Amino acid sequence: MSVDGLCCKRCGSLDHVKSGLAWHHQRCRCRACGCHFTDTPMRGKPPATKALAVLLYSMGGMSFSAIGRVLG
Ligand SMILES: [Zn+2]
Repeated sequence: MSVDGLCCKRCGSLDHVKSGLAWHHQRCRCRACGCHFTDTPMRGKPPATKALAVLLYSMGGMSFSAIGRVLG
C-alpha cells in the first residue's frame, strides 16, 4: 500500500506500485485493477460538466467544439 496519496484514476484504489516514468511523471500501476496511471494531478472539468457536455451533444445537436466554447 502506497502512502503517497495517489489513487488509481480508474478505480480509486490507493494500492499501487511504481512502474517507471512517463512524460517525466511517475508512472504507477494499480494493483487493484491493473491499469496504469501517472501522478499528474486530476484536473479539468468535474464529471458533471462532462456529463452536461454529453447531454448537450446528444440532445441539442451541438458539436463538441461548440460545447467546448460554452463550457470552457
Ligand atoms: Zn485501479
